[in-house]
Amino acid sequence: MELSKCGSKESRWIKCTYKECNNKIFGAPNTRFCEYHKDIRNRDEIKNAKLEDVMKVIPDRFSSPTQIELDCELCGIPYRLILYPLQQKYPRFCEPHRNQYKRDNYRKLKGDNCGTSDEQETEEL
Ligand SMILES: [Zn+2]
Ligand SMILES: [Zn+2]
Repeated sequence: MELSKCGSKESRWIKCTYKECNNKIFGAPNTRFCEYHKDIRNRDEIKNAKLEDVMKVIPDRFSSPTQIELDCELCGIPYRLILYPLQQKYPRFCEPHRNQYKRDNYRKLKGDNCGTSDEQETEEL
């Protein structure tokens, strides 16, 4: 028998596509994750990434608040920090990249293109 590939809105049993998770979900054909893995926080890659320390230690050499400029450890864009006396932990990333999601995105964009890519590099004219 033949099932039409698209246009079907019928729910059906689908296996969660997350790694070894074999939970079945009853959902729309484009459902990918079970209830648990639907939540991005329950997916490993995010969990692991969360361990990434956003902060780094800068010794407090200053006796009054001092503004310094650092390069984001991800994109290299300079960002400003104010160092406070008695505080030693400061963000390693520029403001947008303090967000895990944005860092992941950035890495994806910058990531090695060793995967399958049918997109050609476009050169700027
Ligand atoms: Zn799952
Ligand atoms: Zn950055």
